[in-house]
Amino acid sequence: MSDKFARRMGTVHRSFIREILKVTADPEIISFAGGLPNPELFPVSAMDKASREVFAEIGSSALQYSTTEGDAGLRAIIAKRYEKRGLAVDPDSILVTTGSQQILDICAKVFLDRGDKVVIERPGYLGAIQAFSFFEPEFVTVSLEDDGPNLEELEAAFKDGAKCFYAVPNFQNPSGVSYSLEKRRQVAELLDRYGVLFVEDDPYGELRFMGDDLPSVYSFCKGESLLCGSFSKIAAPGFRLGWVVAGKVVYDKLVIAKQASDLHTSTVSQAIMRRYLETNDIEAHVSLIRERYGRQREAMVEMIGRYFPEGVTITAPEGGMFLWATLPENVSAMDLFDIAIKDKVAFVPGSPFYVDGSGENTLRLNFSNSDEARIEEGIKRLGKSIATMLK
Ligand code: PMP
Repeated sequence: MSDKFARRMGTVHRSFIREILKVTADPEIISFAGGLPNPELFPVSAMDKASREVFAEIGSSALQYSTTEGDAGLRAIIAKRYEKRGLAVDPDSILVTTGSQQILDICAKVFLDRGDKVVIERPGYLGAIQAFSFFEPEFVTVSLEDDGPNLEELEAAFKDGAKCFYAVPNFQNPSGVSYSLEKRRQVAELLDRYGVLFVEDDPYGELRFMGDDLPSVYSFCKGESLLCGSFSKIAAPGFRLGWVVAGKVVYDKLVIAKQASDLHTSTVSQAIMRRYLETNDIEAHVSLIRERYGRQREAMVEMIGRYFPEGVTITAPEGGMFLWATLPENVSAMDLFDIAIKDKVAFVPGSPFYVDGSGENTLRLNFSNSDEARIEEGIKRLGKSIATMLK
């Protein structure tokens, strides 16, 4: 059978995280592995009400096929929310997608030929690496520093003929790192100077619990750039609703690729989300999420200070859902994972986020999906596992 698969299948693997999630299904394991929002914050009753209203008021049209571009009312709301944050976006430049993950797939289809150079952050978002890999590009990685990408590496990659740069400038998955204002400007300047296409993925930007909101890199770009957003982290991922903002020429190509993929995003999901947004205060809801995740992040940082042995360093994210830890040199997070599972705690080892398989001594910890008591117990267990490794 193996001779029947397309060549591209040889280069793409099952998501390592999805595999880990199977191991962590054991309810005794405290898992910091997944990238799940806190389900206590899902607006269940408001969505229940919105869906009943949708079926009562628009009935069968919510169940009909619809346009690829997406629900016009929903796109208008997305544009309005950008406007409130200081970014002018034409609703007609917004394409509603089936999660923001779909954008990565359709972008790869639209832009990547085999061997094209794609610049990504190191470490980088696994879902993008997986989506792009199907189109067999050459990944070029730039190191992520505390305030964004290393600019010399970025310029060298651009000079060397990069076609596009994919980045998560706000509270990146997996590292939690955010670009400083200065680096946002400098990255945009380099993109423009070298004519590199930019894909800014921003599912976490609204989840800031300290510091000031910063403008997107997209807002500084004069050349071709795309801005991706998602309802997964500010409302609920189950709707599978995301969007991308793109210029006219690119937009039309994305529409074609999306049509081939799924014709359009679920009409029901869009109608319910639109109704929810029209009849509820999403900003108040996002504040609630920010406040809760802020507390959970504080608890994790504090417990790491208390329970982790000397020599482990962490990022201190100002938002998002992840924190990144670096173990002493030569300590393998994969080996630590086996010990930690026995101690009933889980995380994601860092190396899958590096296309070159480096980052052996790094790991990702999710703080959005556990309350403070579980964070304390889980970090205590993990501290013990690390101490066992370092013995
Ligand atoms: N981009 C990044 C950086 C992510 O972390 C995620 C979710 N893990 C996605 C895109 C996809 O999110 P969704 O498809 O739920 O919008």
